[in-house]
Amino acid sequence: MQLPDLKEDCSRCAALCCLAYPFEAEENFAILKEADSPCPNLGQDFRCKIHTDLIPCGFGGCVAYSCAGAGQRVTQILFKGKSWQDDPDLLPHMTYALRLLRPIHEALLVLQEIEALDLPPELRAQCTTLTLALCPEDPKTIWEFEDKNLQEALAELPDFVEAIAPFALDSA
Ligand code: SF4
Repeated sequence: MQLPDLKEDCSRCAALCCLAYPFEAEENFAILKEADSPCPNLGQDFRCKIHTDLIPCGFGGCVAYSCAGAGQRVTQILFKGKSWQDDPDLLPHMTYALRLLRPIHEALLVLQEIEALDLPPELRAQCTTLTLALCPEDPKTIWEFEDKNLQEALAELPDFVEAIAPFALDSA
């Protein structure tokens, strides 16, 4: 099993996070925005035009955000480096893929933290099983991430986190 890169690399992404998600009133964004529409602060070069001033400009939500490496995986692996700017028909497919992969990458980050704990064998085995289920071998399409077993493993994570909580507290 090979874990995907779980750290974001915006230089290899097509700015999908600045496109895929809505900005909602209760969140930390200075404007409202629909899902699947580019943020007006996004430049043609996929860079944020206010990157150094996000907090004073009211975009603290962007500072707090991480795709956990899902963005570059969608762009480079699933879409082979193509971009929605060059082919607008790709836009909903790329943003759908980001919304599908991001929770999987976030779950893998959590499982990596859990793996470092001093766990009894059965919980350690469950950690490995869940990690394996979230890592399809050499995936090439979005559909491999919609796989029933993978999605069931993702749904199991909250209960698993609850089960390991006493061991996390012990190591704190
Ligand atoms: S403010 Fe900048 S980082 Fe935030 S969504 Fe817009 S372009 Fe992206």
